Amino acid sequence: MTRVYPQFVVAKFGGTSVADFDSMNRSASIVLADDHVRLVVLSASAGVTNLLVELSEGLESRDRMDKIDTLRAIQHNIISRLKSPSIIGKEIDQLLENITRLSEKVWEAPSAALSDELVSHGELMSSLLFAEVLREREAQAEWFDARKVIRTNSLYGCAEPNISQVEKQAEAHLRPRIEQAIVITQGFIGSDDAGHTTTLGRGGSDYTASLLGEALHAARVDIWTDVAGIYTTDPRIVAQAQRIDHISFSEASDMAAFGAKVLHPATLLPAMRKNIPVFVGSSKNTAAGGTLVRRETENPPLYRAIAVRRKQTLLRLHSLNAQPAYAFFAETFAILAEHQVDVDLVTTSEKGIALALNATSSTSGEDNTLTTALLTALSAHCRVEIETGLALVTLIGNQLHRNAGVCRDTFVELDAHCVRMICHGASNDNLCFLLPDDAANDAVAALHRRLFE
Ligand code: ADP
Ligand code: ASP
Ligand code: MG
Repeated sequence: MTRVYPQFVVAKFGGTSVADFDSMNRSASIVLADDHVRLVVLSASAGVTNLLVELSEGLESRDRMDKIDTLRAIQHNIISRLKSPSIIGKEIDQLLENITRLSEKVWEAPSAALSDELVSHGELMSSLLFAEVLREREAQAEWFDARKVIRTNSLYGCAEPNISQVEKQAEAHLRPRIEQAIVITQGFIGSDDAGHTTTLGRGGSDYTASLLGEALHAARVDIWTDVAGIYTTDPRIVAQAQRIDHISFSEASDMAAFGAKVLHPATLLPAMRKNIPVFVGSSKNTAAGGTLVRRETENPPLYRAIAVRRKQTLLRLHSLNAQPAYAFFAETFAILAEHQVDVDLVTTSEKGIALALNATSSTSGEDNTLTTALLTALSAHCRVEIETGLALVTLIGNQLHRNAGVCRDTFVELDAHCVRMICHGASNDNLCFLLPDDAANDAVAALHRRLFE
């Protein structure tokens, strides 16, 4: 019988939540505990995407076989715990054969499109297995290929979704299915106009969940991970980090953009557009509760959280002649635009510009922001200095510009470090420091101690 689910929830499970049979079983219990969950978005089992990315970089025969053996072991550990493993076992073996064939092909002739096709197999396998786990628990579960709906451009490795196409395809293909069954699909993967598989960048399954939530007007998107919510900083860096029970879209979005890995940076954009609350919780400990991200929160605090983003590059550009600053800036930004450099933070002096550049989150793993063509063009125009091995530490808060004492609170804790760049002003709600990467953890811990403990 068809039922209409106006209050339906999208539930996304990350890699650790589908790492093995027991984790999948726990995640299945979460799905079955809430009647409103009609669409489940899955990551690859923990470690699988890393192995596939290594294979997609082109490995020689022996290394290739080692990685594929490890992948096979992860899948077969799950299959061996199923009650009737034979049919699904064959499907997974077929996908493992595809992986073998594609990784040979990519070794012979690497291509970004081939890499995405290869890497997509992690989510294809985990979703098939999870659908089977649910069926063995008597649930009416249907596997669905997300590539039918997540339509993207052809920027392999970090493809961008076409929002109106996603909405159209979701309405046509997903809506009727969620009314009949619990639909199990893949995060992270999509397809371009030519029908080739694409990926949304590392950590992209969160983004898939909110894109589908937006497309189908979900009442909520649940992100199940290995931490019981969003904390005041990464609890792996600071054990005293505190869970934030309620946080606004803009605060959480800033956290994600400035490196809080718990959410892919783009996750909250679709949620904000349709005002869909996003819950973040631990699939291992549902009783611990979690964080609810929504449009507004009561009494937003001055200091909300500290985020850290690794692999940052500082590009310093110095004018070579006596041209006025406006002309130097205009020429510099024209070159950056021509080479599509995603400039993150900027400071200027009378003869120079400093730019902080973020490493791409591309699945291909290459940081190709500083191409030879870009550096050649810049060098013809100015003196270029590049500094790598940096980290960006960001304090996220509310109305920092209206509160005296913010600089004292932060600068005093960074006294021991060589700060390479400071940014504040374009946003009233964050204050960013670029530091040597090896100083970042100490800086985060010191700031956290003063501002949150
Ligand atoms: P998943 O595989 O479930 O998507 P991720 O590893 O991508 O999980 O994200 C969860 C991790 O994010 C946590 O283990 C934690 O170390 C990290 N993290 C970084 N910043 C934060 C934060 N502010 N709050 C919670 N977790 C954070
Ligand atoms: N499996 C992909 C990754 O590891 C996507 C995700 O987990 O969100 O990056
Ligand atoms: Mg993630």
